[in-house]
Amino acid sequence: MENVENMQTIKIAIDGPAGAGKTTISKELARFFGFLYVDTGAMYRAVALKAIRNHINLNDEDTITDMLETTSVNLKSTADGGYQVLLDDEDVSSLIRTLDIATAASQVATIQSVRIKLVEFQRKIAATDNVIMDGRDIGSYVLPHANIKIFLTATIEDRAVRRFKELQERGSATTFEQVKRDIKFRDKNDSSRAFAPLMVARDAMVVDTSDNSLDTSIELLKEIIREKLYELLYGAEANA
Ligand code: C5P
Repeated sequence: MENVENMQTIKIAIDGPAGAGKTTISKELARFFGFLYVDTGAMYRAVALKAIRNHINLNDEDTITDMLETTSVNLKSTADGGYQVLLDDEDVSSLIRTLDIATAASQVATIQSVRIKLVEFQRKIAATDNVIMDGRDIGSYVLPHANIKIFLTATIEDRAVRRFKELQERGSATTFEQVKRDIKFRDKNDSSRAFAPLMVARDAMVVDTSDNSLDTSIELLKEIIREKLYELLYGAEANA
């Protein structure tokens, strides 16, 4: 892919509801293709963590907007190919991976000023790096001209099972019912908010991962992206 440097940055958008496997899959795809992985959900989680620490009501738009004036959220690449989530320069990577923070993130994500600030930052990253960016509104709002758009989904049952296993592995005592309730709550919040809701972008390819193992989904997406990148770099006829 020697032409990559001669092009503008390449942007791959991966959207979908909670628990569809976006983060795990996107991280592996970014490693495989040598792109920067941008976890936008982590940014909303970090803002939610700060609001909770400051005892701010999550529906209090004015106070959260004021809080943003003195808030910095960053993703810092680490030597092992991973990344740290920095909130005001503090590494909060593990602290934000709880069910409470996920629910709170979905609440602060409905606030327009929060989205405007984080979207601006996300667009800045995509302007300078080849990115695989995952979230809810990447293909539809953050990067409407993304070169490749994928919408990952799965049944609510499958998504809840996956999230439950993940939380159990982290030692969480959360029950399956709580996880399923949270996913339903976030699906509703994410899809019904007025500004940049979760939606399938017009030109996105929908991939349902319900019946797939993680490895199968990763292989499938590698194939889809490889083909699209090839078309992008060498023209559609090269792949015919
Ligand atoms: O993807 P993740 O579960 O980490 O996202 C946490 C919450 O942040 C989501 O439920 C969603 O409400 C919000 N979010 C968003 N837009 C994004 C990414 C995440 O509204 N681009």
